[in-house]
Amino acid sequence: MSNVRVRFAPSPTGFFHIGGARTALFNWLYARHTKGTFVLRIEDTDKERDRPEFLQVILDGLRWLGMDWDEGPEKGGNFGPYFQSQRGHIYEEYITKLKESGRAYEKEGALWLKISGEGQVINDAIRGRVERKEEEDFVIVRSNGTPVFHLVNVIDDLTMQITHVIRGEDHLSNTSKHMELFRAFEATPPIYAHIPLILKSDGPGKMSKRDRGALIEEYQQRHFLPEAVRNFLCLLGWSPKEDREILPIEEVISLFDIANVNKNNAHFDEKKMAFINCEYVKHLPLDSFVDKVKPILLSSKVIDENTDKDYIKDVLSICQEKVRGLEDVPHFVGYFFTENYPFDEKAKEKVMKKGNVNERLEEFLAFIEPLNALVESELEPGIKKLAESKNVNTGDYIHAVRLAVSGTNVGPGIYGLIRVLGKTRVQQRIKKFIA
Ligand code: GLU
Repeated sequence: MSNVRVRFAPSPTGFFHIGGARTALFNWLYARHTKGTFVLRIEDTDKERDRPEFLQVILDGLRWLGMDWDEGPEKGGNFGPYFQSQRGHIYEEYITKLKESGRAYEKEGALWLKISGEGQVINDAIRGRVERKEEEDFVIVRSNGTPVFHLVNVIDDLTMQITHVIRGEDHLSNTSKHMELFRAFEATPPIYAHIPLILKSDGPGKMSKRDRGALIEEYQQRHFLPEAVRNFLCLLGWSPKEDREILPIEEVISLFDIANVNKNNAHFDEKKMAFINCEYVKHLPLDSFVDKVKPILLSSKVIDENTDKDYIKDVLSICQEKVRGLEDVPHFVGYFFTENYPFDEKAKEKVMKKGNVNERLEEFLAFIEPLNALVESELEPGIKKLAESKNVNTGDYIHAVRLAVSGTNVGPGIYGLIRVLGKTRVQQRIKKFIA
């Protein structure tokens, strides 16, 4: 256990944005790297907007991404309560201190902080030295009695003994106010680390919650693997020296440091996210791939409760390395489970253009007729020999058979496909196609 204490301090708005998830992740990584404490604090001071289900969106998102917090909601801790809405008595106490020390005064019904008049030097752990000076006193408690964000944020960081404030760069402009407040409380400010913005993949703008891929919920719904999303988030503003992209989280924890977070803005790259997810899907143990895919196939009605379990597993075993993600699987494997599979017109056109398709299919049928089981080790050399004897390319058989039995030109390796479909199905489908 070290004395490092970091926090993620979301305002529950009903969304768990990719930027928020990345901020949470960098805090979590730093806590795990330093064997410190990761605090979750809920900044729920906007009474109009805060609803219990909004909190759940954040808790679910954090749990889904495997970011466990050491103190906070549902967990407790020695520095609670962890909801700003329950910390009113603490704010009162600190407001009194400011009044007593003469650093706060009332004007027009509001409470103001008397600034120090000195410039604040922020030795930002990511951005380096930043100098800012507050020029005017500012309101810390509104005339309706509610304390402002700056005040409660600082009192919480102070009383929760936060050592490092790692947050989005949009808060850099608030930091001189926060340092003024720490000074007013005669306390040492924490170390600040402002992480760069996440820009849209297509253009200079900042990612907003309306952009595709901006919400963690979307990845949950699209069956992305949480480990893959987390891996992707790690790379939004941080990277290991050799620029590798697939990194086990244990390795990121050991390599991660605030000092090597990038100063430059990060770019959200949807293709990279898809690529990383695809890599994780390919490397799942088969059983776990099957377990994750089955409910997706059930809900998309590709299979039902009666579908043969071994057959499902056989199908998935040959498709795993070819699918682009779990959400791709129902479409990818559809024809394995129905005789009413659609024909892709473009694929058909391409194959038919070759000519003599039915002739090839007849020859293929004659070739498999005497075989007992269709296995890769016999199919591959057999088709090669057949092609040689007819003086055509093996591809002519492969493309024609694939189209006839699957309706498409993409799928798992052809020999595995034929083996898993089995002789009867293959024969029936080809005959139907010819007819
Ligand atoms: N509630 C603030 C936010 O969501 C937290 C700011 C901070 O981390 O200090 O932006």
